[in-house]
Amino acid sequence: MSMFDLEEEKVLAEIEERGARKILLQLPDGLKQEGPRLARLVREKTGAEVFVSATPSWGACDLSLDAAARLKADLLIHYGHNEFLRDGSNGMPVLYVPAKSRHEVLPVVEKAIPLLQGKTIGLATTVQHLHTIPDVAKRLELKGLRVQVPGRGPWAHENGQVLGCDYFGLKRVQANVDSFLIVGSYFHALGAALSVEKPTVQADPFDGTARLLDSDRGRIIRQRYALIEEARRSNSFGIIVSTKPGQSNPQAALSIRNQLEEKGKTAVILYADEVVPEKLMDFTTIEIFVDTACPRLALDDPERFPKPILTRDEMMVAIGAWTWGELLDRGLVRL
Ligand code: SF4
Repeated sequence: MSMFDLEEEKVLAEIEERGARKILLQLPDGLKQEGPRLARLVREKTGAEVFVSATPSWGACDLSLDAAARLKADLLIHYGHNEFLRDGSNGMPVLYVPAKSRHEVLPVVEKAIPLLQGKTIGLATTVQHLHTIPDVAKRLELKGLRVQVPGRGPWAHENGQVLGCDYFGLKRVQANVDSFLIVGSYFHALGAALSVEKPTVQADPFDGTARLLDSDRGRIIRQRYALIEEARRSNSFGIIVSTKPGQSNPQAALSIRNQLEEKGKTAVILYADEVVPEKLMDFTTIEIFVDTACPRLALDDPERFPKPILTRDEMMVAIGAWTWGELLDRGLVRL
């Protein structure tokens, strides 16, 4: 049995109800191995033709709407995430299947409890574990802790949900909590640590480990400060705009380009589907890349890139429009 609930019965019922005959099936990398089985099942039970997307699917920001339209599909089934864009569709019907996790969370939450600081805990998780929030909150309360579950953000549409680029709910409650507990992957917990100024503890149900992320936060903040200083001294910039529906922000890129030009710098806008470090190497005259797409491209593993890469918000500091303190107040991770 898969460790994720792929909701096969619901998917088949939806296909029948919608009368879909040609389907594009999109799965995140961790679930791609389920694609052939799901495609066979759908064909056998409904007679619909199924095309399994073999391109990456990083988030619900990354819906294959254009590919589905070119295929003349009548349904895009997107696994692993819930709805992100409320108005971003090109008319293509989309069925979201979040793929709830069946991994146990309470054993790793027990390990995380000694790492938490203070009495009031902000509790959040990813869509895969959202259904565990009541049990986790009860366990924390049994230990004498108070629990605050943050409200939804602009892209994370459920209370207590975080996305790799949406920690707005945490920021709203941070004045009222002593520390945060994030149930989920390192990627999601690190994003929280980079967004709030309270101690952040990760409880990872996949590998059963718990850890405090304060030193990771400190290391990355120092690294980002140094990159911003380097950008201040640089003259040639490449501003990356994503083709992905939920990440595309050409207006931000144009605004940054104009601000750079006003300061006598040169800047060009680059348009890309996947931001691949090796491809950026071809732009040999560019000194600094600016990421207006997924902010995690710049923040996670910047050493993968041939040249420094800054987020849109970090560029605001490099340009002089914001102070470093203002950036930290807003949090390093914002789409
Ligand atoms: S963190 Fe990046 S990949 Fe994930 S939802 Fe946000 S923009 Fe998409």
